[in-house]
Amino acid sequence: MEKIKMIRPIVEMDGDEMTRIIWRLVKDKLLLPYVELDTKYYDLGLKHRNETDDQVTIDAANATKEYTVAVKCATITPNAARMDEYNLKKMYKSPNGTIRAILDGTVFRAPIIVNGIEPNVKTWKKPITIARHAYGDLYKAVEMKIDGPGKCELVYTTPDGKESRELICEFEGPGVVQGQHNFNKSIESFAKSCFTYAIDTKQDLWFGAKDTISKKYDRVFKEIFENLYENEFKDAFNKAGIEFSYKLIDDAVARVMRSSGGFIWACKNYDGDVMSDMIAAAFGAMPMMTSVLVSPNGYYEYEAAHGTVQRHYYKHLKGEETSSNPIATIFAWTGALRKNAELTDNTLLKKFADTLEMACIKTIESGLMTGDLVSITTIEGAKKLNTEEFIDAIANKLSSLL
Ligand code: NAP
Ligand code: MG
Repeated sequence: MEKIKMIRPIVEMDGDEMTRIIWRLVKDKLLLPYVELDTKYYDLGLKHRNETDDQVTIDAANATKEYTVAVKCATITPNAARMDEYNLKKMYKSPNGTIRAILDGTVFRAPIIVNGIEPNVKTWKKPITIARHAYGDLYKAVEMKIDGPGKCELVYTTPDGKESRELICEFEGPGVVQGQHNFNKSIESFAKSCFTYAIDTKQDLWFGAKDTISKKYDRVFKEIFENLYENEFKDAFNKAGIEFSYKLIDDAVARVMRSSGGFIWACKNYDGDVMSDMIAAAFGAMPMMTSVLVSPNGYYEYEAAHGTVQRHYYKHLKGEETSSNPIATIFAWTGALRKNAELTDNTLLKKFADTLEMACIKTIESGLMTGDLVSITTIEGAKKLNTEEFIDAIANKLSSLL
């Protein structure tokens, strides 16, 4: 078979530890035999980030603006222990945070559905994609402990010194107080990414907040979503045969639990933090979650939702066998290749991405899987393979499907 050509390159961001090893195996065994991979390679492994004072992360994000689509391996976010382990010049910020700040995107996370890895919620048949607003609210809140009686107010001062005030509370005794904020611009970017991704993936979009109680704060979120929808996205939604709906957050939660899935659930920052873990856990396992950063300007960065699987890597370094699940990493590649194919009208490449995903699913459904899945599968006699054996099994399936 002649190798599939790419019309435009994608940005490739390599990473750390076990996922870096998986990255190499996936490329060698699943991609390079079939695709003339055209990537702009950036090594975001911690060693190279340190050598470049993290410039490589910024360069990779900027390259994504140029080439539109990126695929990223999981990377270490340094902490005190990593400072010593890698002899770092400084405690660099999370690469994902740096990239998100440059691309101004929203992260969409969705489970990969396979027969034999059953969700805990019986009605869920299709994936539920969570979109979490990544700025503000609780995460940028300012808090105060109140020691005793006194008056607490919100004060806003304009640049020319005009003040407006809102009484929070007359404290009669000790208590706590918190000030949250967000920017219309950030909420608009979030909403735009959500609408764009819904159209892209032809899925309904839900947005949940609590405007009945939060008549100004959450009301602004609701209005920004509704206005953008009416003014910019309604026609495209109609054309795609999908719907947007605003729901009260508690109603949204109840409906999610009764739904069959197959939609995007846009959440405010805190709701998204809580609900994405709930969705991931209820669908099965972190190694079966995909993640894509979608910018309001139409840039896409695909990755796995899990980290670098450090515990397995240390076993690997000791020469012990590992059984690490490559599925989310493979789906990051297929997601990026499919998006690249769509943008360049590359039918063969799109078909390859679809087939590789199919090969992954069929391999698991045939009872061959990694240890994390063996422990939760309903397939009888499922066989635990090591990291490389499992990728080989997918490669066999892929070659028979092609
Ligand atoms: P992690 O890498 O997600 O792993 C946590 C545990 O989840 C693993 O020990 C393993 O459980 C299980 N697991 C995760 N992915 C798996 C896979 N593909 N196959 C099998 N099991 C898997 O999280 P972490 O250990 O807390 O973090 C390690 C490093 O990753 C940290 O340095 C962190 O900064 C980084 N991180 C990066 C990203 C990112 O780049 N997007 C995200 C999160 C964390 P068992 O040990 O029980 O087998
Ligand atoms: Mg969380």
